[in-house]
Amino acid sequence: MATNRYITQVLLPQIGEQGQDKLANSTVVLIGIGAIGTVIASALVRAGIGNLRLIDKDSVEYYDLVNHVLFDEDDVRNQLPKAVAAERRLQKINSSVTVTGILADVNQSNIEHLIGDADLVVAGLNDNETCFLINDTCMKHKIPWVHGKAVGTWGTTLNILPGRTPCYQCVFGNPLTHERIYTSKNVGLLGSTAFIIGCLQSTETIKILSGSDEINYDLITVDTWKRTLHHLRTNYRSGCLACAGKFDFLAGKSLAKATRPCDGGRAVEVLSPVVKNFSLPELATRLSPWGKVKYNEFMLRFTTDSHEMVVFPDGRAIFKNTSDESLALKLYAQYIGG
Ligand SMILES: [Zn+2]
Repeated sequence: MATNRYITQVLLPQIGEQGQDKLANSTVVLIGIGAIGTVIASALVRAGIGNLRLIDKDSVEYYDLVNHVLFDEDDVRNQLPKAVAAERRLQKINSSVTVTGILADVNQSNIEHLIGDADLVVAGLNDNETCFLINDTCMKHKIPWVHGKAVGTWGTTLNILPGRTPCYQCVFGNPLTHERIYTSKNVGLLGSTAFIIGCLQSTETIKILSGSDEINYDLITVDTWKRTLHHLRTNYRSGCLACAGKFDFLAGKSLAKATRPCDGGRAVEVLSPVVKNFSLPELATRLSPWGKVKYNEFMLRFTTDSHEMVVFPDGRAIFKNTSDESLALKLYAQYIGG
């Protein structure tokens, strides 16, 4: 049901009352609430998407405020996870839609549960492996998804419509061939580039959900500094596993790592192999003789003279100021348990 609130959209012949009703009845899952994701979330909630689920594993930091449009300094001071801060802000922007923020690391054990009922998935991520995992899941469940990433002054976006377009794996090949992952943490990011990519993605999301026949079928690349925008035709890749119904990333065959570098190589993340759901207050009691412990319901920060770690209720932990993955595993076993 369209109301006056959406009159400027309903007036558009491309959307109209019918398109607006389709948006109101849609469930969208957004993975990654960063520079791109906050733009998409804001646009979709204002546009009246009926049900928006937001998933992110990080908390809001001061350096995020330069390009994460939904957050402010209070969110950093309160150590809020992005999923929680975004849900609160978005619900104030539009109380007539359902917004659910989920603090989680998307992995092969939870992704089908998180996105299986979605009408569309949209992601703003530089994490290539997670993109392959999203692609497997969306191909398996025939869910359209809208990919976007941005680093430096450059960004790209692509629509994947299972059965109608080449998939992410067709276009980007095998993640193991990508030796170095470029992220905003190691090469920087111009906020306006992420905003443009986020705007293109939210427009395509609205077009796909409202049934437009003008959906983009190309890979779009943008460089805001050089003022360039290119459309590249995509092709099916012969031998693409996802198109052949073989979902190796979802099966966990390609994502078995227990650790991975994060924060531009200045920290190591230890992934919990199974969701543990342990109690942070209990862990705080256990750790307090060994160092400084500070926690809220979303995370626990533990600092000693030589180490700093952040632990989440799902068992995931981030070890700051180190790139040594075996040390991180050792500390995880030592302080949290194997
Ligand atoms: Zn494919």
